[in-house]
Amino acid sequence: MNKYDSLLVEGRFLKDGYRLTDEMEDADVILFNTCSVRDKAEERVYSWVGALRRAKEQRPDLVIGVMGCMAQRAEEEILRRAAHVDIVCGTRRLQHLPAIVAEVRARRARGPEAGPARGLLETDMAGEVAVDRSSEPYGGGLVGHLAVMRGCDLNCTYCVVPRTRGRVRSRPIADLLREARWMVAGGARVITLLGQTVNSYGEDLPKPGPEEARLSGRQGRAGLADLLRALQEVDGLARIRLITLHPSYVTPALARAIAECDKVDRFLPLPAQSGSDPVLRRMKRGYTTDLYRHRVGILRDAVPDLELGSDWIVGFPGETAEDFALSQRLLAEIGFVQSYVFQYSPRPGTRAFEVADDVPLAQKKERNQELLRTAERVALGRMERWIGREVDVFVEEVAPHGDGLVRGRTLHNLPILLRADAPCDLVGRSVRAHVSEASAFGLAGTTAV
Ligand code: SAH
Ligand code: SF4
Repeated sequence: MNKYDSLLVEGRFLKDGYRLTDEMEDADVILFNTCSVRDKAEERVYSWVGALRRAKEQRPDLVIGVMGCMAQRAEEEILRRAAHVDIVCGTRRLQHLPAIVAEVRARRARGPEAGPARGLLETDMAGEVAVDRSSEPYGGGLVGHLAVMRGCDLNCTYCVVPRTRGRVRSRPIADLLREARWMVAGGARVITLLGQTVNSYGEDLPKPGPEEARLSGRQGRAGLADLLRALQEVDGLARIRLITLHPSYVTPALARAIAECDKVDRFLPLPAQSGSDPVLRRMKRGYTTDLYRHRVGILRDAVPDLELGSDWIVGFPGETAEDFALSQRLLAEIGFVQSYVFQYSPRPGTRAFEVADDVPLAQKKERNQELLRTAERVALGRMERWIGREVDVFVEEVAPHGDGLVRGRTLHNLPILLRADAPCDLVGRSVRAHVSEASAFGLAGTTAV
């Protein structure tokens, strides 16, 4: 989501005549897009921003901004800890950043005591960021991102996202189709649909009026299944990926749509977070492990060879050795091919912040390592099942350090390295490939003729 937002902001600046640079020394404006999900990410921003203090003294014209979730959450703290920051711009105003930068410059031209651009967060939390990007050049490359919704209506007790991004706002299918076509016209062949709970897409949209109902043949609200079917028809689009599904919104209708749309990846990120029912309850995830298994069953009934990914939090308050062992067990039982493991990080303003962060850091680290080891073993088992099979691969790039090798992803979203005769010709294309090797992190093989 942050990559998407960064691109969106870049687009706005490019349209206003700015150019991008990779060198801090060359920049007139430096913006940091930020994540608040864990404390470490925020601390890293302070250290990056702090490193610019000297540059700012030497070049007072420099404009430094902090944008995104952290700006939304901690405006006061940012300005207190980094007084040389000019702009603090939360998640709802990103599209106005060029205007905000212009305002900072204009104020500076008027006098030296302008101070930072504050009060930029006083926007309505229900405000819209469904920005139409189509008047800008598409700069997202072959594998593009598309935010189909913003915000989150759930309230997992550890999570800061509902506070930084507000309630769910889904974008209408017609808007998303227009943006998808614009992306494809600009060179995208893969589109990753983004949402915090992407499979709850549409629940906040209005019911169709009589005319729309007649045209779409649908009486109820649009959902992710409808969106997938619409995107399946976009010419030139090869693959559709999804990030992230929530178990509570898995339905047979969605599973059917995935099965019937051959552009949709046979891989779904479906974070379990924990394998222990008491922990899930305290996290307020809204399901038990049995319900989780049931939802996986719905998906695998429709798409039997589906691969799944999960996020895991270790060291949540009160997590015992038994709770942790249950996470290990669920990971192995479901057979996740991809697992991201996070050590619990207390976030101010969340419900879990109120209770003691009582799992010692050393134990969190140990559980993190241990769960990663299990994840690696389980992933290797899943990957090895593909050896000897033919698969569809979307080729994304020539491998940087290998002669005659290209990198891509299978329809099950598994990374694969392929030996090919004319590597450059394959980039951006779907090819058949024969899998000959597997590791916990991906496959290797050759293009099939
Ligand atoms: N909406 C997605 C997750 C978004 S945050 C979902 O519900 O699955 C991405 C991941 O960060 C989460 O899945 C969770 O594993 C992790 N995370 C969120 N808050 C955290 C916290 N306070 N400490 C540690 N990990 C956290
Ligand atoms: Fe956070 Fe839970 Fe919403 Fe995901 S579903 S963004 S973890 S509150």
